[in-house]
Amino acid sequence: MGKSSKDKRDLYYRKAKEQGYRARSAFKLLQLDEQFRFLDNVTRVVDLCAAPGSWSQVLSRRLFEEDPENCDQKRIVAVDLQPMFPIDHVTTIQADITHPKTLSKIMDLFEGEKADFVCSDGAPDVTGLHDLDEYVQQQLILSALQLTTCLLREGGVFVAKIFRGRDIDMLYSQLGYLFERVVCAKPRSSRGTSLESFVVCLGYKPPTNWEPRLDVNMSVEDFFRGCDIGRLTIKDELPAYHEEPRSVAEFISCGGLGSFDSDATYHDVPLNSIALDPVQPPTNPPYKRALELKRKGKLTRAAQ
Ligand code: SAM
Repeated sequence: MGKSSKDKRDLYYRKAKEQGYRARSAFKLLQLDEQFRFLDNVTRVVDLCAAPGSWSQVLSRRLFEEDPENCDQKRIVAVDLQPMFPIDHVTTIQADITHPKTLSKIMDLFEGEKADFVCSDGAPDVTGLHDLDEYVQQQLILSALQLTTCLLREGGVFVAKIFRGRDIDMLYSQLGYLFERVVCAKPRSSRGTSLESFVVCLGYKPPTNWEPRLDVNMSVEDFFRGCDIGRLTIKDELPAYHEEPRSVAEFISCGGLGSFDSDATYHDVPLNSIALDPVQPPTNPPYKRALELKRKGKLTRAAQ
């Protein structure tokens, strides 16, 4: 397979390199914003699970380069478990979003002000055990949501990657209690063959008298206590039938039909050069140690 064949098979991968983005995911945020315009007039932004940083690059270009007014008031904070190479106008924190100390680190950087926009493109390492993977992904979304409820101003926007699994309706219901409008959006740059989608939650509006609290040990039930999300209880007598309130998220496909299809191979798009190097090599790849050992001639094959 030629060095440029991935560029042809995945036009977004190619375009990301041409436009200086560290990952093709940049186009997912760009296409979501094209649809919802949630990055217009935002000042304080949090990018959770941000490495290698293509979403932060989009945010930096949008907030600082395309709209250079009031730059001294603008702030972008990016958080990831992995170290990130610096990005102009972005403060990076290497931390776990499920750890309560991460919240106070972000709050310190915002000096008591709330954020206008929080996004999370988080994905845990997959094990291949589907139930476990789905559970860990759900927990990551919940952590992002818990952080968001403590950081976001009323009326603010939250965008998060989800995988449309069996229990996704429950998440839509929970989000529906906290936001005025919840949309499940699939950008054209997200492969149609993947269950990946994004929840776009517009107009943060927590119930009155509901105080968000961040505690890793708190169950989902406890976190949403007071949000009046209907639940079933076991009683000796059957209660009168009562239909539970239920939120069904709208589904929107965004990116426009004119944009590239991420599942198609393009042979007729002229490529500027044969192959482009990655914009940013990984900071700490798992194969780094193997390469070091190989260089020193210490890499041996495991006995068969
Ligand atoms: N949006 C990024 C971009 O455009 O470059 C790509 C994000 S990548 C798909 C998912 C990231 O989630 C990984 O970098 C991973 O380290 C991060 N992640 C997973 N679990 C995390 C956690 N508990 N805390 C912080 N980051 C986490």
